[in-house]
Amino acid sequence: MLRITGGTVYDPANGLNGVVQDICIADGRIVAHVDEGHTIDASGMIVFPGGVDVHTHVAGGALNFARGLVPENQRAARKFLHTSDRRAGLGGMTPTTFATGYLYAGMGWTTVNEAAVPILSARHTHEELHDIPLVDKTTLVLMANNEIVMDLIEAGETERAKHVVAWLIWAAKAYGVKAVNPGGVAAWKWGKNAHALHEPVEGYTKVTPASIISGLAQIVDDLKLPHPVHLHCNNLGIPGNAATTIETMNVLEGHRAHLAHLQFHAYGGDDWSTMRSEATRVAEAFNARSNLTTDAGAVLFGDAVTITADGPWQHLLYQLTGRKWGNLDVENETGCGIVPYVYKDRNLVNAVQWAVGLELLLLIDDPWRIFLTTDHPNGACFWRYPEIIQLLMDAEYRKEQVRKLPEKAQQRIVLADLDRQYSLSDIAIISSAGPARALGLSQKGHLGVGADADVTIYHEKPDDGRLFTYPRYVIKGGVIVVEDGDVRAVTDGREFVVHPECDDQIREYLRPLFPKIYTISFENYPVDIERLRHAEVRPCT
Ligand SMILES: [Zn+2]
Repeated sequence: MLRITGGTVYDPANGLNGVVQDICIADGRIVAHVDEGHTIDASGMIVFPGGVDVHTHVAGGALNFARGLVPENQRAARKFLHTSDRRAGLGGMTPTTFATGYLYAGMGWTTVNEAAVPILSARHTHEELHDIPLVDKTTLVLMANNEIVMDLIEAGETERAKHVVAWLIWAAKAYGVKAVNPGGVAAWKWGKNAHALHEPVEGYTKVTPASIISGLAQIVDDLKLPHPVHLHCNNLGIPGNAATTIETMNVLEGHRAHLAHLQFHAYGGDDWSTMRSEATRVAEAFNARSNLTTDAGAVLFGDAVTITADGPWQHLLYQLTGRKWGNLDVENETGCGIVPYVYKDRNLVNAVQWAVGLELLLLIDDPWRIFLTTDHPNGACFWRYPEIIQLLMDAEYRKEQVRKLPEKAQQRIVLADLDRQYSLSDIAIISSAGPARALGLSQKGHLGVGADADVTIYHEKPDDGRLFTYPRYVIKGGVIVVEDGDVRAVTDGREFVVHPECDDQIREYLRPLFPKIYTISFENYPVDIERLRHAEVRPCT
């Protein structure tokens, strides 16, 4: 049992905005009161619900490939030495599994959503997730270029497609559905892409990116998954893609949906020389559609590794930059491109990207609908979130940074005109309460009675300036796991999965398809639930 006294509590889900109030913990949950146990004096400190990352990449074959592709980064990375309760590991752009848990918890984040799992890599991904301590996890399974699903959409068999999706989710032991460049990754088999939402995808006559998007959104709604379809829109990273993004919002009319890393989808201009921010127009369209949530996918200057199932985009990025490039293929149904990258403030395109992420965070009015991410490790590493928080909370500091950009870049952005400053409560919303709600994790992102006791306590006025860099305490499931930025205890995280209803007959439909399209047998395809050593099945209601 544990009591936190004297702290200033920010718990926006329960309407608490900077109230001095005790928080009591027993058996890993928040309770109304405790009579005994340990007390933490949190006077002069702020108390937040543990951070929730709605979109990150921390485990799976692609991550291992990325680690292997940049050994120089790994050698230079922060090292975690082996101790009695801590495993050795490396920090860096793509931290190793154990280090990922230490770094997230060390920053005060206690739940992460691994946003791109190919079904065939799910077994490996769960093994890696098991090795990420301290944080709870969810996973999203890649579905928008699945041959079986696309063939069923082509045939107009939407009911059967729904049962296939339900079966695939449980086969992958996933929590939700991810759609990456719908139709474009399938077309990549022939070296092509899908740029137009309403034109048939390569190899099909009826299936379009739009029909995949609306089809999956409908299926996810029908299956009552806790998290809506999680969409990486077509034309990521390409000048002028704001038009595609807004048209995608139209396609999603009437459905719940989460638009991933919106920064990469809010550009104007006709080519790289005229590329500019279109954050104002995208934010306006987004503000008008309450069915949507999004995450920033913000960029910070410095090293990154771009990793995405959007294979055709990564090949283009390689052609544009001449950097190292790798492409993983997963049975021609999805894959992953990897390009290590450095965002430079003197580079016009990079400067615009840096501004667009912040502009969206400032122009989208409702903090409950846009969340703090960098699409780790694509825009920057997750352990740099405190830098973004500082930029959001301090308009003067932010404008100072804008003035350092090339003159030409400043003409293509609107960031210098934005005076909004995030409050501490806003930060608690975009980093915890909002993403928890969007993920449908009712026990996360708040400090009400019954919530998981994931609590982060920061000094209100840290000696070294920047808030949120080193929590004074991080409590995970009622256990004090971090003190003064150092990992003090290591616990295993849980994995949340869903088991949507599906017609048993769908197995007999799928079985004969496997020898035709996969190298793996039907029986070996699903991941057994026993593989997930701390699984918790969440309801679909
Ligand atoms: Zn991503």
